[in-house]
Parts: sequence; structure tokens; C-alpha cells
Amino acid sequence: MEANLKKRVVIIGGGYAGVSLLHKLKNERNIELILIDKSQSHLLQTHLHKYISGHYSLDDITFNHEKYCKENSIEFICEEVSSINYKDNYVISRENLLYHYDYLVIATGSVSVFPSQIKNVIEYTKDIKRIDNLDYYRSKFQKLLDSSPHNSSILVVGGGVSGLQIACEMAYTIKAKGLTKDNIQVTLVEGMDTILPGMDPFLIEKSIQRCEELDIKIINNLFASKILEDSIILSNKEEVPYDILLFVIGAIGNNIANHDKKVEENPRNQLIVDDYYKVNPYDNVFAIGDIVQAIDTNTNDFQAPTAQASRMQAELTAKNIIRDINGDTLIINNISNKGILIDLGGPNCAIGRLLNINLSGRIALWVKKLIYSLHTKKFN
Ligand SMILES: Cc1cc2nc3c(=O)[nH]c(=O)nc-3n(C[C@H](O)[C@H](O)[C@H](O)COP(=O)(O)OP(=O)(O)OC[C@H]3O[C@@H](n4cnc5c(N)ncnc54)[C@H](O)[C@@H]3O)c2cc1C
Repeated sequence: MEANLKKRVVIIGGGYAGVSLLHKLKNERNIELILIDKSQSHLLQTHLHKYISGHYSLDDITFNHEKYCKENSIEFICEEVSSINYKDNYVISRENLLYHYDYLVIATGSVSVFPSQIKNVIEYTKDIKRIDNLDYYRSKFQKLLDSSPHNSSILVVGGGVSGLQIACEMAYTIKAKGLTKDNIQVTLVEGMDTILPGMDPFLIEKSIQRCEELDIKIINNLFASKILEDSIILSNKEEVPYDILLFVIGAIGNNIANHDKKVEENPRNQLIVDDYYKVNPYDNVFAIGDIVQAIDTNTNDFQAPTAQASRMQAELTAKNIIRDINGDTLIINNISNKGILIDLGGPNCAIGRLLNINLSGRIALWVKKLIYSLHTKKFN
């Protein structure tokens, strides 16, 4: 196909979903690829706990878009998209520049939730999904470790996978430095009656055991209701002091201002897509990753927003864009969750449940490392 007959595919967002899609489409000769991301780098959120703890460097968790795109003949535009004109097929950036597309893929991910009912939550907490905030937490943690601490406290609010991984990694690092809970107490606050609420009992049991090993205190059934400069007030009025506070209670879709009333969103700001990950009613617009509400074809429930789901959605969407260009029938959503792997701190401890098989220890960690290297080798 001649250069001017190439189809222009614009991808907004180079996270797990966007990068995986680029990788699948980069060798298609009849496609011109453009990545627009407001950030210079792809941030590997799955491993940010290892950056906060000091075990990984910035190079281990960020991958430069410019370099990857240059090496693969992809145009990279470092700008924030502020609106989409679905009818006339173009997006507009904050700088007021206009980019036309034949196909658009929205892969803008999610942002952490900070409910306004929790007083002062915005003043005293930071979104761990931003690199500058990760630097803030990493440096605070290092300073605390080096300060001969006594009766210090790290509070992680949110006992889901992200909160648990961060708490374990920090507690492991404290122990590895020869410090105890009398020096720094790590506490995990979870509003439900268990950490990892709703997950497999094997994962819950192993995680609680690991928290005990690492002297992590778990507070269940209580919510943070107010944040002060150096303490939080729980829903039972108890005050818990902190030196470092991390808030990891969930995420909502990072949606671009939606001025098109035809485009449907759910209350979590996610775009509702059809069986082909298309954004109704626009036939040439797809959405993938944390920004979408999509169905898990095995459980018929909504897919959890994970890197795994983002990658599978990107693979399917790459095939469907190629099929659409060629006039072939599209492949219907066939994505189901294959399982989960959770890092429980340190070089040897992880757990998981993959394809209904329980994994723990070195095997789980090895599989997690394999997934990490399969994703990051795109950039080497
Ligand atoms: C602490 C933590 C641990 C996790 N652990 C796991 C795990 O073990 N396994 C797992 O499968 N998942 C895990 N996840 C979830 C996983 O990281 C996410 O599901 C995944 O990153 C989503 O990918 P994405 O591409 O949709 O979004 P993101 O990775 O968030 O990428 C979105 C991109 O879009 C860009 N962007 C956003 N808005 C705009 C705009 N308007 N204009 C231009 N660019 C824009 C952003 O800069 C960003 O680069 C974890 C998440 C966290 C926070």
C-alpha cells in the first residue's frame, strides 16, 4: 500500500495497553502509527512497590517512549489529549494541536481514587501512579530508614493487591536493614473484614501469614475518615500516627473530557465498549486497558483492571484493526482472567493462582519475573 494510502492509527496512552498494541502493530506496512502520551515514559505500575522500597531503579520501571518509537518508526507526540472529536475523526491536545486519525485507540488508564468524604485526603496523600510522587515516597522511605527511627509508622490504607505489595516490600526492607517494628511499624488498613477482599482463600491465607512474618499490623473493618498532618482518624475515632502515609484504595478511569453524549461511561469513569472493544457508536474508535468496562467471557462479570487484561485486549484489538482494514470479520471478545500473581516482599516470596493452580514461593516469583521480562524486552 502506498504511503498516502496507509491507515493512520492514533493511540492515546502508552501504558501497558497502548505499548502492547504498538508492539503488535509496529510491523504492519499499511498502518501509520502515532502514540500520544502526556508522559515521556511508560511506567510499569506493576513494579512500583520495588521502586518505592529502593530495590529497583527508575530504569527498571520506566521505559522511554521517544526511544522505543524512534527505533520502531512510530511517531511519538508528548502531549496531553484534552478532547476528541469523534464525528470528524480528530483529537485535540492541551496545546490546541489537532491530530487526525483513521482509527483511534483510547488507552488512558486510570487514576487513584481519593474520596472527598475523607477529610483532607487530597492535602496529605499523593497518587502513586505518578513518577514524581513515587520519587517523593522513595526518598521519604530512605530518609526514615537512615534516621535511626524509633516508634515510627508507615500506614498503607487499602488492603488490595497494590496496598499489600507495597506494605510487604517496605516491611521486608525494614527487616533486611536489621530494624524491627519498634523502629518502624508498617500497618495495613482495610475497610473490609479481610485483606484481599473477594479473592481466593488460598491467597488471603498466605498473605496474612506473610504479614505476620513481616510484623505488619492489619486493621480490618475500619475506614479512614479524616487525615491530619501526621495521623489519620479511623471510622471508630481511633487516631493512628504516621510518618509515611500511602493511600491505595482503588482507581477510576482516566477519561478524557467527554463532550459527546453518545459515548457511554459507567460511574467509575470507564468507557463502555462493545464485544469488539469499540466505543459505541463509533466504528473506528477502540478503547482498551483500565479505561474500559469489559466483560470477562469466563465469569460474565466485569474484567478486573489489570496489566494482564490490558495486554490481552491490546492483542485482540491489533488483530481487529488489521481485519477491519482488510474488510475481514472482526474477532469477538474472548478474554478471561488467567489468574493473579502477588509479590509479598523480598527476593523469594510471591504467591499466585494461575489457571486454577496455586503457586507460592520461588515458582510464583519466577513466573512473575518471566512476565516482567516478556513485557520489558520490547524496549531492549
Ligand atoms: C501498585 C500497583 C500494582 C499493580 N500490580 C499488578 C499486577 O501485579 N498484575 C497486573 O496484572 N496488574 C497490576 N496492576 C494494574 C496494572 O498496572 C494496570 O491495570 C495497567 O497499568 C493498566 O494499563 P493501561 O495501559 O490501561 O494504563 P496505564 O498504565 O495507566 O497507562 C495510561 C497511559 O496513558 C497516558 N495518558 C493518560 N491520559 C492521557 C491523555 N489525556 N493524553 C495523553 N496521554 C494520557 C498516561 O500518561 C499513561 O502513560 C497494578 C497497579 C498498581 C497501581
